[in-house]
Amino acid sequence: MDHCVGLIRDAVRETLAFLAPVACAGCGEPDVSVCASCRTALPGSILTRTVSGVTVYSAVPYAGTAKRMLLALKRDGRVDAAPVLGGWLSDAVEAALDDATGESIELAAVPASRASRRTRGFVPVHLIVRRAGFTAPRVLSWARRPRDQIGLGRVERRENLTGAVTARGAARRRFIIVDDVVTTGATLDECIRALRQAGAEIVACATVASTPKHTATPTEKQCVTTPVAGATVYEKA
Ligand SMILES: [Zn+2]
Repeated sequence: MDHCVGLIRDAVRETLAFLAPVACAGCGEPDVSVCASCRTALPGSILTRTVSGVTVYSAVPYAGTAKRMLLALKRDGRVDAAPVLGGWLSDAVEAALDDATGESIELAAVPASRASRRTRGFVPVHLIVRRAGFTAPRVLSWARRPRDQIGLGRVERRENLTGAVTARGAARRRFIIVDDVVTTGATLDECIRALRQAGAEIVACATVASTPKHTATPTEKQCVTTPVAGATVYEKA
């Protein structure tokens, strides 16, 4: 029932946004929800990186238009940006599935905090997953609330998050973990840990966007991960 209510609420929000658009969520062009050039300007090649030995597929760099659209959704409640973001997540998931072997692969969304759900009234990653045409069973949840990650370095983020996520009912299931954006990879890393501990297999991760400095573009040498003092360090191969 909650799920149905959520869907109706999302539809109402999106309709209202289309009826009274203020400006393009990507570039600010007036009187349009998401302009034609922002809809079609991205993405190019799928971006990949590695977190805890798992390949993360991302559709676009977390910069420019894509970053503005994600922030418009998350900070300004611009749910009208979700269909375009969902299309990009779909591209990333399809790329992960193309490289995967075996069947019965499910999506698992990075969990949202209660505070996030309460203040926004919706969960950005859940909305993006739905607009991508997928469903993601709620197998991951927060076991405890970590400190705010802002200002923390990569090692501190890892320490702050370890043990913070728990997985239920995941044994012997196979997952692609999905999120809106991957930055340091600390949150995905913790979700991978929790699912593995619960007996699940992690096939891949897929996100709409990835921070450029961590991304191995087709023109860069392949990045490798080297665990150092509990941290995931990216080095040129
Ligand atoms: Zn635009």
